Order: sequence, then C-alpha cells, then structure tokens
Amino acid sequence: MAQPIYTTHHGMVDILPDEVRKWQFLENLIREEAEKFNFEEIRTPIMEKTELIVRGLGQMTDIVSKEIFSFSRGEDNYVLRPELTAPVVRAFVENRLDQRGGSQKLYYIGPMFRAERPQKGRQRQFHQFGLEIMGSSDALADAEVIAFMIHIYHKIGITNTTLKLNSIGDPESRDQYKRALKAHLKPDLEKLSEVSKKRYENNPLRILDSKEEEDRPFIETAPVITEFLSEKSVKHYNKVKEYLGDLGITYEEDPYLVRGMDYYTETAFELISPDLGAQDALAGGGRYDLLVEEIGGLPTPAVGFAAGMERLFIACEELGIRLGSEKKVDVYIVTLGDAARKWGLTQLSKFREKGASATMDYMGRSMKAQMKDANRENARFAVIVGENELNTRQFTLRNMAASEENSLTLDAILQKITGHHT
Ligand code: AMP
Repeated sequence: MAQPIYTTHHGMVDILPDEVRKWQFLENLIREEAEKFNFEEIRTPIMEKTELIVRGLGQMTDIVSKEIFSFSRGEDNYVLRPELTAPVVRAFVENRLDQRGGSQKLYYIGPMFRAERPQKGRQRQFHQFGLEIMGSSDALADAEVIAFMIHIYHKIGITNTTLKLNSIGDPESRDQYKRALKAHLKPDLEKLSEVSKKRYENNPLRILDSKEEEDRPFIETAPVITEFLSEKSVKHYNKVKEYLGDLGITYEEDPYLVRGMDYYTETAFELISPDLGAQDALAGGGRYDLLVEEIGGLPTPAVGFAAGMERLFIACEELGIRLGSEKKVDVYIVTLGDAARKWGLTQLSKFREKGASATMDYMGRSMKAQMKDANRENARFAVIVGENELNTRQFTLRNMAASEENSLTLDAILQKITGHHT
C-alpha cells in the first residue's frame, strides 16, 4: 500500500476501535473506584496559561525548560497541559473550591502533553489518571492517596510492583540538603555526566535521578535528604509509614527519590514495575503543601498522585492481562431485497429501545456476505428477512454460536433476545 500522506506527529498515538475497549474499561474502573473512595471528578481545559505551568512546576524543571508545547495567540501564551496538579490547584483557587468546606477530594482522567523523546512507554501525548486531596496536612491523606493508587493496579491484577517512598521535607531542610549535596559533588564535578553538570547549578536534586553510569559512584556516596529533615517532617514521614503499615502496604524507602516538579514537599513516592523496561514508573506523587499559596490561594496543604495509563497497559500486555470485553452486537438483521432492507431499518430501533444492540448491512451485500459480516461483528443473533418472511410475518432467528435456527414472530424474537415482553 502507498505510504499515507498525513501521519500523526511523532509521539502522538491514535487509539483505534480495537483498543478503545480497554481504555473504556480502565476509565470506568477508575470512576467506580474513585466514587467508592468518595472522590469527585474534575475536568479542566487542555490548555493553560504558560505562566501557571512555569510558576507551578518550576522554571528549571525538565518539563518546563524543554518539554512544554507552547504557543501564543495575540497577547496570550498557551501551553498544552503537561500534568494536572498545577491546573487543578488553579481551578481550586480560581473557583474557591475551599468554600465547599472540608477537604476537597478530586480525581481526573485525561491527556497530557510533553515534548519528550518518544520511546516505549514515553509519548508526547499520553494519558494520566490521578487524585488530589486538598486541605489536609494529615498523613492519613497521604496514606489514602497511596492506597487508591495501589488499589487500582491490584484490581487489574498488576501486583508485582514496588512502592518507593521518601520524604523531601520542607524547603528549608531541602535548601540545606542541596548545599550539602553540591559540596559533596563539587570535587568531582568534571567527572559527572553532561546532564548532571548542567543540573548542578540549577536543579541539583535531579542529579540523584540520573540514569547515567558515570554518575553512579557519586550518587551512591552522596548524603541523604533524610538526615536533613526537620523534626516536623520526620514526624510526618513516620506517620505515613505507620499508616501504610496499618493498611498492609509494603514500601521500599529510597532516600534518593526526587520528583520532577519543584512543588513537592514532604512525602514523595513512586510506583515501579519490573514489567516496564526502561520507563519503569507506573505512577508517582507526593505532597505539595505550598503550591496553593504559591499560585495565589490561601495556605492549603495537599497531596496527590498521577499514573500513566499507557504504561499500565504495557504492564498488562507483559503480564497477559486482557482488559475489556470483546466487541459484540446482539442482533444483526440480514436482509434480502429492498422491502426487507426498509423493514430492517425501521425495526432496528425496536431492539435498541429494549436495550439490545442492533445493526444491519449498509452495503447491499449478498445474504452470504451479510452472514459472514454478522460473524465478523460477533453477533449473538441474526434475524433473516426476505420477501417471504415479510408476507408470513415469521422471521428466521439464527443463534450464531449454536448455529440453530427458529422461525418466529418479531415479538417472540424481541422477547427471546432482550428478555422483555413486548
Ligand atoms: P509525572 O507527572 O511526571 O509524575 O508522571 C506520572 C506518571 O505519568 C509516570 O509515572 C508515567 O507513568 C506517566 N508518564 C509521564 N510522562 C509520560 C510520557 N511522556 N509518556 C507516557 N507516560 C508518561
């Protein structure tokens, strides 16, 4: 076949009908489970003002410095949202959601955009689901957020995961730690990878995240942030661990775990899967107690996570987990001749009104081709209609799986298929 003239941009992927069922399945599961945890959905625009994302995530972060898709129109600067915590916080502040009282428990599902180098598990348009609890500084909120995240993977059957946990404390302890880390790295600065050299001044904590071999020895001997935490941060961290223990959630402490956005404080976590390869993070999150204030709201502690949906599907594939049911249709009306086609068209709604799915041929195909099509469409029943059937008002109902045929009135067929009386 000829090469298509138009293709998607690099890293942007169509979700085709054969795959969409697993998406719908996952989305439904997330919605159902989020409701059980008493979270409410929030939907914000795909585009935000550039200033919000820069301010919210931090100028020096990888996302802001090289991965945002932005453009301007007149005076306005737009960015395709690279994540949803900052937009949700903006919506919270802008719409005074704090006035609803209590803590706000919000969830979201949707596409995000980052101009990263595409590879398996890394796209430029990808999808996340996530939660935010706004208004509580209690470690219970951290525990609930983590519990929900793990719960979704367990429901699906992805159980072979590692929860990595760390505390990055408050900004003061973090500044002290940054200084200590820089002092540790300084004598060997020349030996660090190019990326880490660049991060040294602007974003030294991200050096801990480096995947470059040459950085390893210097990271392994680096001081750890846990030694710099304030008493309050240690207390909070211990509570989070205690509650996770109460919930039977196991974790691995990783003092080098840092997250990609500047807004994090205190708890940081990531869920890792050995089934994913190089991009092994299924989900990640943490506290961001200062972000609401940072973007103009009242002081509001908060905690949340975001999970990559494509990566969840990759893990499913590796584990042989199939999500969503096969495509099927309850009734395929097979028609012979114009009068039957007309009849078929008007009878489709009878099935649909009773809750059954129904279709027919739109291509004027032979009866044999229509039967073949009914098979391809995975029809449970075919109703076969020709001139004779229209005259006698007795139609052939074929049970496709059993290859059984019966001659019945339309009412009897409707009853048989939909289980309702007409
Ligand atoms: P982050 O918002 O960076 O904390 O990412 C949260 C989760 O989103 C990650 O753990 C991944 O599962 C997923 N994710 C992040 N970036 C991408 C991407 N470019 N392509 C696919 N999934 C991604």
